Amino acid sequence: MKFEVNKSKCAGCGACLRACPHGAIKIGEDGKAFIDQSKCKKCGKCQRICPFDAIEEIPEEEVKT
Ligand code: SF4
Ligand code: SF4
Repeated sequence: MKFEVNKSKCAGCGACLRACPHGAIKIGEDGKAFIDQSKCKKCGKCQRICPFDAIEEIPEEEVKT
């Protein structure tokens, strides 16, 4: 699985950036958060902290590589 930001829910508040212990989340030019999958350790902290429930766990079978 992997974690992805649902951009239609993300408010760009930045809480997940501060919560991520691995520096894997950034705010893009669209003002929404995105996760650098090469840095993400799948700890789930960002998902727990997001006040807008915008970070979703995507099951492996739906992950396109
Ligand atoms: S905490 Fe949630 S709403 Fe805030 S920037 Fe991160 S994904 Fe977006
Ligand atoms: S799951 Fe953990 S490592 Fe990955 S982006 Fe979220 S807080 Fe960072």
